[in-house]
Amino acid sequence: MAHRNTRQRQLVLEAVRSLASHPTADDVLAYVTEALPGVSRATIYNNLNQLVSDGLVGRVRYPGEPDRFDGRTARHLHFRCDVCGRVFDYDEPVSLSSPPPSTDELEVTGYDIWLSGTCRTCRDKRPRTER
Ligand SMILES: [Zn+2]
Ligand SMILES: [Zn+2]
Repeated sequence: MAHRNTRQRQLVLEAVRSLASHPTADDVLAYVTEALPGVSRATIYNNLNQLVSDGLVGRVRYPGEPDRFDGRTARHLHFRCDVCGRVFDYDEPVSLSSPPPSTDELEVTGYDIWLSGTCRTCRDKRPRTER
């Protein structure tokens, strides 16, 4: 059983690292099912959560959307295309004038920036007049 668990974990990690555009748990399930037919959704979720706690996989959360997973764990920003919904890494420098300060009531220990817009592929599909 331990062997099977290790195999599942390896496949889940492989899926996150090889699928482009920050896969959801369902994308990972589809990938792992090819190698291990009948693997359950709960198993995929458990492995993803474990990999996130172990720091091997990042979690990307956009409000109102299913969690996405990321094989790149160093801190970076994400850009979501409003048209196709794909999520891209965004590596341009972004600066806030200063980190958001804590208040008497709220101690700030982290913050996220979500970028959105239109990706190149979707822009290229737009009629020229709209550009
Ligand atoms: Zn797009
Ligand atoms: Zn990313």
